[in-house]
Amino acid sequence: MTKTRLTTLVLATGNAGKVRELSRIFGDLPFELKSLRDFDGITGMDETGETFVENASLKATGFAVQTRELCLADDSGIEVEALGNAPGVLSARFAGADTGYDVKIERLLAMMRESGSSSRKARFVCGIAVANDRGRIVHTVQAQCRGTIADKPRGTNGFGYDPIFIPDGFGQTFGELGDDVKGSISHRAKAADLIIRYLLDFIARRT
Ligand code: IMP
Repeated sequence: MTKTRLTTLVLATGNAGKVRELSRIFGDLPFELKSLRDFDGITGMDETGETFVENASLKATGFAVQTRELCLADDSGIEVEALGNAPGVLSARFAGADTGYDVKIERLLAMMRESGSSSRKARFVCGIAVANDRGRIVHTVQAQCRGTIADKPRGTNGFGYDPIFIPDGFGQTFGELGDDVKGSISHRAKAADLIIRYLLDFIARRT
C-alpha cells in the first residue's frame, strides 16, 4: 500500500498564543503542520502594510520564499472606535513594541477616557494570506469579531487584548470566556473557516 505524503503547511507566526489557536483550528486538516520554530535562520518580515491583509501577505510571501513550503500567515489587531480605529495594524507595537499587555491595556483605557467619546465599540480583525512554495500569494481572506471594551481587564485566558474585549452577545471578556468560546466566534476562527475551504480545494487539486 502506498502512503501519500502529507503536504506541509507552515503556520508562519512566532506568537505562541496565535500558534496555539491556529494549530487547534488547522489540526484536523490533512496537512503536516509546522511553525517557524521548525526552521533555522528565518528572518522576520517588516510589517509595513497599511491593512491586515497586506501585512499577512508580506509575511506569507517572505516566509514561503525562505522555507520553500506552503505558508499561511495572519495579521490581526484591535480597532477601537473612540480612538479612530487605532491601534489597528499597530496593535502589537502600541505603547512600545517591548511593553507588556498590562501596560498596553492601561494606555488604551486611558486614551479612551481622554478621547471625549463615550463609545466602547471595538472589533478584532484578522487577515490571512496563503503563499505557495514559490512565494506567490494564492489566497487571502479577512474576518472580524465585533464587541465592546470593558472598563478594566478581566480574566486570564487568551492573550493580548483579550482581558478587555467583550464579544457582542456575551457579558464576559475573552479573557474570562476561554478557548472554546473564543475558538468558535473569534476573528481568527472566522478567517480560518474561510481559508480552510480554499486549503481543502488546494489539496484536492494536488492529489
Ligand atoms: P500581529 O498580527 O502579530 O502583528 O499582532 C497582532 C496583535 O494584535 C497581537 O499581538 C495582539 O496585540 C493583538 N491581537 C490580535 N489578535 C488578538 C486576539 O485574538 N486576542 C487579543 N489580542 C489580539
